[in-house]
Amino acid sequence: MVEQTLGIIKPDAVAAGHIGDIIARIEAERFTIRAMKMVHLTKSQAEGFYHVHREKPFFESLTTFMSSGPCVVLLLERESAISHWREVMGATDPAQAAEGTIRRALGSSIERNAVHGSDAPETAAFEIGYFFNALERAG
Ligand code: GDP
Repeated sequence: MVEQTLGIIKPDAVAAGHIGDIIARIEAERFTIRAMKMVHLTKSQAEGFYHVHREKPFFESLTTFMSSGPCVVLLLERESAISHWREVMGATDPAQAAEGTIRRALGSSIERNAVHGSDAPETAAFEIGYFFNALERAG
């Protein structure tokens, strides 16, 4: 089934100059990029995005990291987009991520792991709506 997911090139990967590498991989994996923009989140915008993690011990550190510099957010479409993008990203901890995944190649810690991807249809709907309005989604 063709579906959509929300991808983010996180501030560590943007700062390290990997936007182009990651977009090339996205296209090689046959995703259609339906919308894309660069955003520098405020701390409270990062907290809103990660609200499901607000009780976690790493919430403060994660939201500080995610608001530390610009991200690139992408609306990605493909057959099984959610699960496929998570496979291409790899496990949360780059040290545990499989060979050939983006996190294995570009992540530097469990927090600074280069990319984000929605984990289920409900979270994808929330996350896509968080960044892209109806006009942007129609592109
Ligand atoms: P994901 O779906 O693979 O991104 O992982 P989660 O939803 O569990 O966590 C969201 C994000 O929080 C991850 O991508 C990491 O950037 C960060 N994170 C997850 N676990 C930890 C942790 O144990 N410590 C720290 N500092 N950050 C974490």
